[in-house]
Amino acid sequence: MTERIIPVADLRYLQAVPHIPEQLVPATGLLSDRLSRPLRDLRISVTDRCNFRCVYCMPKEVFDNNYEFLPQNLLLSFEEITRLTKIFVAHGVEKIRLTGGEPLLRKNIEKLIEMLAVITTPDGKPLDLTMTTNASLLAKKAQSLKDAGLKRVTVSLDSLDETTFQRMNDVDFPVADVLHGIEVAQKVGLGPIKVNMVVKGGMNDQEIVPMARYFKGSPVILRFIEYMDVGASNGWKMDEVIPSAEVIRRINESMPLEEIEPNYTGETAERWRYTDGSGEVGVISSVTQAFCSDCNRARLSTEGKLFTCLFATGGHDLRALVRKGHSDEEITSAISHLWAQREDRYSELRTQQTEGLERPVRKVEMSYIGG
Ligand code: SAM
Ligand code: SF4
Ligand code: SF4
Repeated sequence: MTERIIPVADLRYLQAVPHIPEQLVPATGLLSDRLSRPLRDLRISVTDRCNFRCVYCMPKEVFDNNYEFLPQNLLLSFEEITRLTKIFVAHGVEKIRLTGGEPLLRKNIEKLIEMLAVITTPDGKPLDLTMTTNASLLAKKAQSLKDAGLKRVTVSLDSLDETTFQRMNDVDFPVADVLHGIEVAQKVGLGPIKVNMVVKGGMNDQEIVPMARYFKGSPVILRFIEYMDVGASNGWKMDEVIPSAEVIRRINESMPLEEIEPNYTGETAERWRYTDGSGEVGVISSVTQAFCSDCNRARLSTEGKLFTCLFATGGHDLRALVRKGHSDEEITSAISHLWAQREDRYSELRTQQTEGLERPVRKVEMSYIGG
């Protein structure tokens, strides 16, 4: 009998309205959590909907016609997202990634990008404003995204083989359309483009080397992501994770690689370059080599809950503060208070556990808080 996994949709509605400290404190740009980690990177989920049903993210059995996505009135409006972003930037955030669900499904997303693109850091620098997309609408929208002020895109593509890719996206979406999206994005200047491939053992790991070969020598940076136990609906098993070390070993056999320095502290991908000078690949080892000690990321869900870890069991309801009419100073102080309490390091703790042990807690879906 196959066990059906029940989604944790109810977690979306957990009430956790942040505490506003009596003594309000202005933002200094120097937040530090309990493990001395700053806040630099904010991922904003702009929709919980998607036109794909990737088996590792939104499996059809769970995200079917009966699945209740969030109604429009619960989503943060563009004005609310922009207001919160300004507060986060004052706290030290320099990089904003729009994600989802599929961010290009959010109506008038270009308008939001225009609103975010004019925000600068306290020392006057523009934000690093990016988006992760499945590229299904990218060819159509690349120019308007660029014109609105988007800097770069990361595209998810799990295989070049049609059968494998369609088995993974589970909506028969063709590889060629994703590749065309990448090409158009490149042409309009949304590069350097990164391509993310989630490697699921027994499903697309035979595509590691063909993907590497295809993008070698192109301006695209391919990154291999270890299949993660995010959410509660993908039925994750440790033996379906292909460790990054194995990914590198397989590529290195025919296309020699050497490791290179990270671009900055807290970078999620480990970087490797081809010794013949024809570009680089990255590996994101969230399972086998946790990088929690440098994690400076927070996530804002579609309905305005702040998650201080991808694997958190609940969020902090910033939308409630916004809609109750709290001032910027109050929200700023509430976020300082929250960050000061942060001690998340889920992946490190999981790594310390023995293989086969049950997952420690139930978690929210990636399509809801964003990747
Ligand atoms: N729909 C967009 C896309 O696919 O690019 C953005 C949202 S998606 C949740 C963001 C990223 O999370 C994608 O690159 C996706 O492959 C990755 N992802 C989703 N579920 C995952 C899992 N279980 N393990 C590892 N990565 C995952
Ligand atoms: Fe959609 Fe992205 Fe999740 Fe795939 S990974 S189901 S494209 S949100
Ligand atoms: Fe950051 Fe949580 Fe991932 Fe660790 S598990 S790297 S704390 S998001």
